[in-house]
Amino acid sequence: MGTCNNTTNVGFAIPARVSRETKPGGTIVNIDGIEVGGSDVVVIAGPCAVETQEQLFETARAVKAGGGRILRGGAFKPRSSPYSFQGLGEEGLKLLSLIRKETGLPVVTEVMDTRQVELVAGYADMIQVGSRNMQNYPLLKEVGMCRKPVLLKRGMMATIEEFLLAAEYILSKGNEQIILCERGIRTFETSTRNTLDLSAVPMLKRLSHLPVIVDPSHGTGIRWMVPAMAKAAVAVGADGLIIEVHYNPEKALSDGSQSLSLNEFNQLMPDLKKIARAIDRDIF
Ligand code: PEP
Ligand code: MN
Repeated sequence: MGTCNNTTNVGFAIPARVSRETKPGGTIVNIDGIEVGGSDVVVIAGPCAVETQEQLFETARAVKAGGGRILRGGAFKPRSSPYSFQGLGEEGLKLLSLIRKETGLPVVTEVMDTRQVELVAGYADMIQVGSRNMQNYPLLKEVGMCRKPVLLKRGMMATIEEFLLAAEYILSKGNEQIILCERGIRTFETSTRNTLDLSAVPMLKRLSHLPVIVDPSHGTGIRWMVPAMAKAAVAVGADGLIIEVHYNPEKALSDGSQSLSLNEFNQLMPDLKKIARAIDRDIF
């Protein structure tokens, strides 16, 4: 399979499997009964990293009570420094599956290495390929052969074309359950951690049939900016959001400064619902 012509002149050819021309009606990704890409906007929320049972469980209960539909939490963490908290590993995966049993929330967690795919897929309902691994082609092929939905995050320096080609790798191995996630890109701007490219949302939805969600937490790196960008993401047509929430952000072992408190998460959800309703969608 090669490429498709596309009515949008973006200056590059759209890979065939990922192209909307292949599936004009769009793809709905089903994560253990939760549909992403349908009429509902789905909120995924939880801590950056699984730290302790208490931290995960209290945060997850608040996510559920607030209207979150899927729980996030990293067990294998890609950290800039080798001396930073690297995640609990399999212990973290076990905690995620315990709290799934209690709350009924499906869980998404990151995989960084081809050797971990089987292990992570054994616990998770959706596998996250992080920004740093968007162009890890052996990993893309491996998750492409696995029968779990994949949350593919945009590389922090990836163009839309490269992002779509990364998704094409997964599709070409037979896995069609992929959600694209805009999480901010590196620009000359230094006041924010990344520049959240919300224009990627309508562009990706036009070029591809895959659902598109937005991560306003990594997209800004700043807690107080998260609600505004989350609302904007819904307004531009995102099919969902992935938001970092922590029961005690000041004490978080990773990404505390961009994590919402449980209260802040609770306050945000009704506002998101209003935006969703304004564009004939719903949120919970
Ligand atoms: C994360 O979701 O915690 C994460 C590391 O995200 P990203 O890969 O987008 O940096
Ligand atoms: Mn994080």
